Amino acid sequence: EKEMQDLLGSEIIALDADTREKLSKDYYWYSPVLDSRLKHNQAADAIALPRNEAEVAEILAFGYRHHIPVTVRGAGTGNYGQAVPLQQGIVLDLSRMDQIVEIGDGFARLQCGVRLATIDKKAREAGQEIRIYPSTYVKATVGGFVSGGSGGIGSITYGNLWDGNVLEAVIYTMEETPRRLVVSGKELFNYIHNYGTTGVLTEVTIPLSPRTEWMQAIAQFVSLEQAMRFGEALALRDSIPKRLISPMEWPIPAYFIPFAKVIKPDSAAVMLEFEASSLERVEALAQIFGGHLGHIIPADKYRKTVGVSDFTWNHTTLWAMKSEPAMTYLQAGFKLDRYMEQIQLLKEQYGDEVLLHFEWVRGGGALVPTALPLVRYQSEERLYEIIAYCESIGVRIFDPHTWVLDNGGRGEVGSMERKKRSNDPKGLLNPGKIIYKND
Ligand code: FAD
Repeated sequence: EKEMQDLLGSEIIALDADTREKLSKDYYWYSPVLDSRLKHNQAADAIALPRNEAEVAEILAFGYRHHIPVTVRGAGTGNYGQAVPLQQGIVLDLSRMDQIVEIGDGFARLQCGVRLATIDKKAREAGQEIRIYPSTYVKATVGGFVSGGSGGIGSITYGNLWDGNVLEAVIYTMEETPRRLVVSGKELFNYIHNYGTTGVLTEVTIPLSPRTEWMQAIAQFVSLEQAMRFGEALALRDSIPKRLISPMEWPIPAYFIPFAKVIKPDSAAVMLEFEASSLERVEALAQIFGGHLGHIIPADKYRKTVGVSDFTWNHTTLWAMKSEPAMTYLQAGFKLDRYMEQIQLLKEQYGDEVLLHFEWVRGGGALVPTALPLVRYQSEERLYEIIAYCESIGVRIFDPHTWVLDNGGRGEVGSMERKKRSNDPKGLLNPGKIIYKND
């Protein structure tokens, strides 16, 4: 500790118990399984709050010399315990590195700690906008999104992080003398969604699109089936620009207290964001499926009032938990050619124990009905029974109740493992989050 204070000056190191406690936690409590395993996890020994790349490199070299684990942190909104330091050591909080380096034509170069909402605001002022962002965009950092997230609003058009939504990254390795790497193209796959295990991102370049005027609406339908079919039809209408199509079955909309007055009971809802001049076409399409657009938020109110995206993606779970604290969730990929059959099987098996809401996504070019089903939690055993059943009917589950990258992440991490061995030879970056399969 003494050497660390001397080395770096106390203004970038925090050692007090409150700060260490607070910055050693993320949103892991979203999962009852992770909550029971992590709530008593001991806080990091120190929090480092560097202001520039040189200080990041200095902290990494210090950690390497003294064999101290380093766990990177953006805003700590990740919900798999990704930013929790399982072996204590140093939490490297990058929220002070929050400069927008450059907004160019079609791209933004950013220090990793800038919040996504800040980037989007600046980009929109310059006639552009970010392409994809999580529902936590107000707090979440761009570095945290790239290293710990996957997709979100905008993914219906632009896909997930792996679909060209990161152009370049500056990475620091954890070695005696940390290397500064500038990475682009396929090589980025070793760093996207890496939980900070293969390197520390200090700067990220993301693509921007021309600014669009977004209108929001809540469409309502008699059944989830109609809501889903409408969502699919709208997803396929390339002539209607959109960034959100999120169908959900009743009673999920009943959890959305701020919309209580505008939501019709006993109906499925679809949360929508589409380009303002498409309103009539969206309305006509909803009518084909027996629905109508209820609540409409005009484009000039965009981000100035409660928006519909605050009730989608994993924010749906948050609203459900407000009414029913025992609610939890899964992450699922349904099949485009048989999602209705899969939905029916799940409802027959579990009834209201599993409540469905979807986000239509275009991943790797293909349209996918992805879902974050709500689950009324009974026990870990029951949860894994439900997961097994989903898998048995072809619903792919990305388990959100584990902090291990290979389980909850993207499956294949072999190439990341190799990268970790060369970038982090002592295995000090966020230990415990990646489990070597190829030993
Ligand atoms: P953190 O939580 O601080 O970090 C995430 C991970 O990345 C950690 O493992 C951390 O060690 C690592 N990390 C952070 N910064 C760096 C860096 N610079 N270099 C290397 N590693 C780093 N996610 C989605 O993808 N889509 C959603 O729609 C979405 N909705 C959410 C809704 C709710 C209510 C909640 C609680 C979470 C949601 N998330 C979602 C998860 C999370 O909020 C996002 O992924 C967010 O972008 C994470 O950013 P952060 O700055 O908070 O990262």
